[in-house]
Amino acid sequence: MKVCKFGGSSVASAEQILKVIDIVASDPARRVVVVSAPGKRFKGDDKVTDMLISCAVRVLDGDTAAEEVRRVVERFESIRAELGLGEELVVFVRDELRRRLSAPIPNPAAFTDAVKALGEEFSARFCAAAFTHRGHPAVYVDPKDSGMLLSEEFGNAQLMPEAYELLRGTLAPIREIVVYPGFFGYTRGGSVATFPRGGSDITGAILAAALKADVYENFTDVDSVFPVDPRIVPEVKQGITEMTYREMRELSYAGFGVFHDEAVQPAVRAAVPINIRNTNRPEAPGTLVLEKRKTVPGRVMGLASSRGFGTLYVSKYLMNREVGFAAHLLDILADENIPFEHMPTGVDSISVVLRDTLFGEPARAHVIGRIRNELGVDEVFYEPGLALIMVVGEGMRETVGTCQHVVGVLSRAGVNIEMINQGSSEISMMFGIREPSLETAVRALYHEFFESKP
Ligand code: ASP
Repeated sequence: MKVCKFGGSSVASAEQILKVIDIVASDPARRVVVVSAPGKRFKGDDKVTDMLISCAVRVLDGDTAAEEVRRVVERFESIRAELGLGEELVVFVRDELRRRLSAPIPNPAAFTDAVKALGEEFSARFCAAAFTHRGHPAVYVDPKDSGMLLSEEFGNAQLMPEAYELLRGTLAPIREIVVYPGFFGYTRGGSVATFPRGGSDITGAILAAALKADVYENFTDVDSVFPVDPRIVPEVKQGITEMTYREMRELSYAGFGVFHDEAVQPAVRAAVPINIRNTNRPEAPGTLVLEKRKTVPGRVMGLASSRGFGTLYVSKYLMNREVGFAAHLLDILADENIPFEHMPTGVDSISVVLRDTLFGEPARAHVIGRIRNELGVDEVFYEPGLALIMVVGEGMRETVGTCQHVVGVLSRAGVNIEMINQGSSEISMMFGIREPSLETAVRALYHEFFESKP
């Protein structure tokens, strides 16, 4: 059996939902369908999730959010009317949205999650009704009734391990097509909690793992995963046909927007292959993500790139002799709830790479003050504006010269490298550069490693 997930653009309008129904109906193995909230129908359009977040923000500011509610209801009403579904569905949208917005607010993060999860809930209810209406019996399954048990990290929740068994127990016996909302689940205390943004991919991977699906099909709006960001290299044509879980994880971590990086792990756990496909061109085979693939030594498989990082630079003479220095530094960050991404070290210095957005003021000044006082450092400062480029490929392992090759390309392109980090997996190398050089660097690497190569 197959678990299929359809992203926001695949359920953005009635026309798109009809394509989803055709795709699912064309293969009886497609038994479980996970959907996102309706996304953008055209450039400049709004995603329903963003509209719902605006509703929550308004209410938290003491406003009624009447205009925002009206827009959400209108969006679902247009989908309902075009699909010819019953009006009770839109009555439910209006009532449930108002109900959640007028609920008591003991915790703003939990309140926001309960509101923003509604995009997926409404989308799944509408899709289930549309399947049934077109002669394909389907049921909406609620995460609360089916065991999608999540941690209490609102907006950034994680699955509780016992959920796999619960989900399998409730979903496996269902005979109709299961339509399941992505992105959210429930805490033990019964509150709605969401995964990070884009988290419907994670829901799909969890269900595929729980049900030990033969494949997890992730339908989006591109024919396959490209080896480089097409916004930076628009001429990229050749997609990736096969990659490993580890390659996917490395690439999606550093900016490959096609698939959520946290969705890889559940698939790995149950060894379910992931197939990234296009709702608008279902005949295209897409990209297959597997445990193992044939590799060509030295071959770079993809280049991921991402802005928005910064370096927390800490130096102290004889740091190498001070047992526990790095642990104390990381303790301070952990204490202040700031996650770190990478930590290249020198003899007397450590650079901790952080995400800019998670290290804003006033936390930044406070943390720097603590490091200065508690660790007695010679120097500590934060420099934003770091971009990361990840060069990824299983074939790079044990191949001599890849790093030198990359460094040569960057140097000829006039790009200054601030940091190099090779993970112990040896399937990726990370290069830290200044943000304004990102496009030049990525284009130069693409031309070197991919152009005119089979
Ligand atoms: N609707 C959510 C978002 O926009 C989750 C998803 O689409 O995967 O982030």
